[in-house]
Amino acid sequence: MKIVHLASELAPVAKVGGLGDVLQGLSRALLAKGHQVEVILPKYDTLDLSLLPREIPVKLIESPFFERGVIYGCEDDSARFTFFCRAALDYLQKSGRCPDVIHLHDWHTAVAAPLLKEQYPELIAQCIFTIHNLAYQGECEESVLDQLGWKSDIIKEGATYNLMKGGILYADHVTTVSPNYAHEILTTNQGGTLQAVLQAHQNKFSGVLNGIDYEYWNPATDPHLPAPFSLKKLAGKKLAKQELRKRLSLAEEARPLVVAITRLVPQKGPELIKAALLKTLELGGQFILLGSALDEKTHKEFEALKVEHTDSPHVHLELTYNEKLSHLVFGGGDLFLVPSLFEPCGLTQMIAMHYGNVPLVRATGGLVDTVFDGVNGFSFGPPTTEAICETLERALPLWNTPKWNALIESGMEVDHSWDRPAEEYLKIYNAKARV
Ligand code: ADP
Repeated sequence: MKIVHLASELAPVAKVGGLGDVLQGLSRALLAKGHQVEVILPKYDTLDLSLLPREIPVKLIESPFFERGVIYGCEDDSARFTFFCRAALDYLQKSGRCPDVIHLHDWHTAVAAPLLKEQYPELIAQCIFTIHNLAYQGECEESVLDQLGWKSDIIKEGATYNLMKGGILYADHVTTVSPNYAHEILTTNQGGTLQAVLQAHQNKFSGVLNGIDYEYWNPATDPHLPAPFSLKKLAGKKLAKQELRKRLSLAEEARPLVVAITRLVPQKGPELIKAALLKTLELGGQFILLGSALDEKTHKEFEALKVEHTDSPHVHLELTYNEKLSHLVFGGGDLFLVPSLFEPCGLTQMIAMHYGNVPLVRATGGLVDTVFDGVNGFSFGPPTTEAICETLERALPLWNTPKWNALIESGMEVDHSWDRPAEEYLKIYNAKARV
């Protein structure tokens, strides 16, 4: 099968969050199953081309739109990415590619679904649209669509046009990244204005739980760890904890290490992370946050917290995006926090479990599909500081006990590779002819 992905991220060369990981992991899994895969990506000027994954065929679309020093965050993002969709489809048509499947990801590439159906009759491909996060929908002004050369009031939501709506309406099948998030956006106010649209198209909508790339995220082969480890040979994990403490100047004492790796945006519960830091110290633990704020205000707030704890041998806040360090933090952590207010899938809890951490998460979205209280981790319901603190009070006293080791074991045993999700996508790709 010939599968083409249109996407705004691809790890490790263009990664802001989980979307990049998904494109990398899913593409590799499909290639391993003998399919032809191509990823079309904007040629951002920030790309380090030496990191382009050799095994995944990638086509880069070049334009001044992508010479901005950032991947996202420009005022004209909707114009940048609608341009990308047009250019990608033009390329597919002119190169005579004839893919069987065109798989679109998030609002950035959503408008390719109506374009494909209405303006590219020669491209007879199944069109799949995956919602990685419904919170970002690509609202745009009419002028953006005028410039694109396709417009329809059918994708209007209130006063503006909504690119994600175009993906939902026109794709042959719509997926999101976990079964529970699929349920939540159909049935709770998380669906926002698009809830009714999703409900109307339930028959072509499903949730496929993301996987993680077990080649890239593998404690037995990870070059960023001081020593390999696995469930059967856990000794290397102690060395990772030692190395992490040394690198971040934390005291080497018999204390549990609570860690979080996240973008610092409201979705990820920054207030709960702050409360967890204080509670961890009170309970005799150590705390590491590797967090990247996207706005100045949040960055300053966390800088202030860092200054407050600057003399503590038990706290380190690393307020940046650091892929290499993230591997060592996964390797050295004991308890991994994911207190998201909402979470379409969440990859960090799965990576963390694979690296022998016990996850502590809020029960929402894909976290519900992957973390089971008392079985492989801890979870809490209300998005409050009280709830996360109570859960830490339950969790931390168990550190270094047989129960803790049993939690680590269940987390490391489970298969979160891309093998099964890739099979599910293949079933969807094969399911029906283009309508
Ligand atoms: P989201 O896509 O919403 O950010 P996910 O859990 O799906 O959340 O994926 C996040 C990915 O980004 C993971 O691979 C995680 O390790 C990585 N990540 C997030 N923040 C940082 C950071 N500050 N430094 C390094 N890696 C990070």
